[in-house]
Amino acid sequence: MAFEGLTERLQQAIGKLKRKGKVSESDVNEVMREIRLALLEADVNFQVVKDFVKDVRKKATGAKVLESLTPAQQIVKIVNEQLTEVMGQEAVPLQKSEKIPTIIMMVGLQGAGKTTTLGKLALKLKNEQHARPLLIAGDVYRPAAIDQLQALGQQIEAPVFSLGTDVSPVEIVRQGLELAQEKKNDYVLIDTAGRLQIDQKLMDELKQITQLAHPDETLLTVDAMTGQNAVEVAKGFNEQLNITGVVLTKLDGDTRGGAALSIRAVTGKPIKFIGQGEKMTDLDVFYPDRMASRILGMGDMLTLIEKAQQDFDEKKAAEMQEKMRENSFDFNDFLDQMEQVQKMGPMDDLMKMIPGMANNPALKNFQIDEKQIAHIKAVVLSMTPQEREQPDILNPSRRRRIAGGSGRPIQEVNRMIKQFDQMKKMMSNISKGNLNGMEGLLGN
Ligand code: GDP
Repeated sequence: MAFEGLTERLQQAIGKLKRKGKVSESDVNEVMREIRLALLEADVNFQVVKDFVKDVRKKATGAKVLESLTPAQQIVKIVNEQLTEVMGQEAVPLQKSEKIPTIIMMVGLQGAGKTTTLGKLALKLKNEQHARPLLIAGDVYRPAAIDQLQALGQQIEAPVFSLGTDVSPVEIVRQGLELAQEKKNDYVLIDTAGRLQIDQKLMDELKQITQLAHPDETLLTVDAMTGQNAVEVAKGFNEQLNITGVVLTKLDGDTRGGAALSIRAVTGKPIKFIGQGEKMTDLDVFYPDRMASRILGMGDMLTLIEKAQQDFDEKKAAEMQEKMRENSFDFNDFLDQMEQVQKMGPMDDLMKMIPGMANNPALKNFQIDEKQIAHIKAVVLSMTPQEREQPDILNPSRRRRIAGGSGRPIQEVNRMIKQFDQMKKMMSNISKGNLNGMEGLLGN
């Protein structure tokens, strides 16, 4: 999981203050030292760390943390603000050109996720703006790149323009842009070649494409897992190509945090999107404040909610809410919900976006057992339609039949029905605005 070590260390550092009634200057110094080490260990750029600690210290003095009754909370607030600031404060939207098409050029080293991100971005534009993007296959050095782009194009239903590998990328882009004019595509996304390392030949070629296409956005894709190296790459590309933004990929992996926290400060260019998985829908807008609270282990409820909105069927969600209120939630709804939640991605990743959960010891080795989900499903599917709609009629003989039908022990069937009842009560409470039922769920 991304930022795990950093989150843990920051929480430990600040947690020490929580246990003290009154804090002294040396306590604050100690926390600063630990924050500094935590950031360095997370591979954050040295200069960024230095400035960060200096700014936090200054703000802590200004806010009179020592005199405050809640010094730990004050420090959390300041660190949170500073993390947000270092990552750029506000989300920076994608440029849109006044005249069509808006041209987006993707650049980056090989393997950073350029081609994948291009597909994800095209899908996002289609979904959110009903855009009609044209994808241009300009990576002629890695033959598989063209096939890969074509496969992605098919998957997201967007046209791909390619002239194979024998024509120069500049010529491909020229002809691709002509086609886009003709077909009135509102977006053009250009895939370009990557290398294992920055080299001048690659840069010269990218410059030529830039001079021809005048992209509205030159987005650099960097792999978050490569830490400081990602920052160096960003610096190198920016110096030569004047990039307009960065896409940080593979934030679903266990990156330490260095790239996310250093890129903006080192290059002055915003991170615009983050890639959080291999699926075409795994691209999210980068919000510095949300990322800061995720790093601090305070959860990222907003992204979680957005994910839910994106993946949930809205009409169904409204129906579900109504059912919760009326307390008429039944096993059919339960099955539906389970399937919806499964669509959202690995459960343990989702859980960690809930405040307080990221570092909850109970979650340390937490993994939803897919087998267990299959068992629950088998039990529900062994119920008759009437039983699913009216769980109250599930008497012992019906339960025995269900156990036989699903191949699960009777105790398991009983336990599941009991849990279902509890959940139903809790949901009914929550929907009536009574949050007491949530405490057990959030583990605090
Ligand atoms: P390119 O050489 O820069 O075009 O890189 P690709 O788009 O071919 O991506 C390289 C690998 O990284 C592929 O296996 C992708 O599926 C994977 N990848 C890209 N973005 C992400 C991401 O956000 N998360 C994960 N887990 N994998 C990613």
